Parts: sequence; structure tokens; C-alpha cells
Amino acid sequence: MRKDTKFGISDKRGRAQTSSDPYLPEEGLKETSVCGSCQSVYRNKRWYTDPAGFEEARKSKDVGWVTCPACRKVAEHYPEGIVTLRGSYLWEHEEEIRNILKNEESKARAKNPLERIISVDRQGDDLCIETTEQKLAEHLGRALHKAHQGDLRVSWTDEHSVCRVTWERRA
Ligand SMILES: [Zn+2]
Repeated sequence: MRKDTKFGISDKRGRAQTSSDPYLPEEGLKETSVCGSCQSVYRNKRWYTDPAGFEEARKSKDVGWVTCPACRKVAEHYPEGIVTLRGSYLWEHEEEIRNILKNEESKARAKNPLERIISVDRQGDDLCIETTEQKLAEHLGRALHKAHQGDLRVSWTDEHSVCRVTWERRA
């Protein structure tokens, strides 16, 4: 397992200094903004999953209505994480594995609404998952590895700041 320490240490660091994520520049966002599409709330320079905060913010006149970076990435199909699962074991445990992916996404999203699965597609004998954030791709790979062992590889490409994760288990 190889990991470039440049990315993924923490959200803040990735965002402020090393991320080349074109969706994150936040100039022009009002101090409090909400995403009209997923109802995430932007406050203190980050996005939150906060239904109560959303209800409160929507009544305020001084709130900005925007589409958050995650919703834009989903709409424009801009993955920063690509997870490829392969091996016969995968198809024998497909439901279980899909549930892990779903649960881990919900947990990640509760903490950071910008972490989302864009798509889960079967491509031949592989299952390919695209995520909005690199960190989530790595997280999904690690969660699978923890629950089902197998071989995990995590690599980062600098040019596009994409995290590629491959997990494989034959039997
Ligand atoms: Zn959104």
C-alpha cells in the first residue's frame, strides 16, 4: 500500500494548500450559504450537514443560495476518487459490499457533506465507484479491506489530484 502524504491528511490542509480542486474556491460565497439541492449549510468557511441550520438559514434574508461543490461534481460528473473492486469474492458478497459502501458514505457525509459517491457501476467483472473527494475513495477502500481483507492499493495522481483505489479478492 502506497500513500502520498501530500493529500488526504486532513480536509483543511488538502483544501487550503495542496488541493487543486477547481470546485472549492469560495470567494463570493456569503458568510452563510445553503445548497438548494442537498440542503447543506456553508458557515465558518466549511460545509455542514445540518438540517436544523438549514431551516434557520432559509428564513434569513442574508443567506446565499448556491449549489455546493459536491452537487456540482455529481451534476458535472467530476470524480476525484475512483475505486475499482475486482475478484470473484466481490460478486459472491455483492450485497454485503454494496451495503458497506452505502453505510460508509452516509457516515462520511454526515461529517462532511462534500464527501459523496457519484456512481457505482458494474464494468465487466469490476465494480467501479466514483467519489467527489479523494478522501472518501481511500476511506471506502480501507473500510472494505478491514471488513473483507483482500488486497488494497491506494495511489494518488498529482496532476488531477485524483485518488485511485483498487481492492481485489479472489477467493
Ligand atoms: Zn449540495
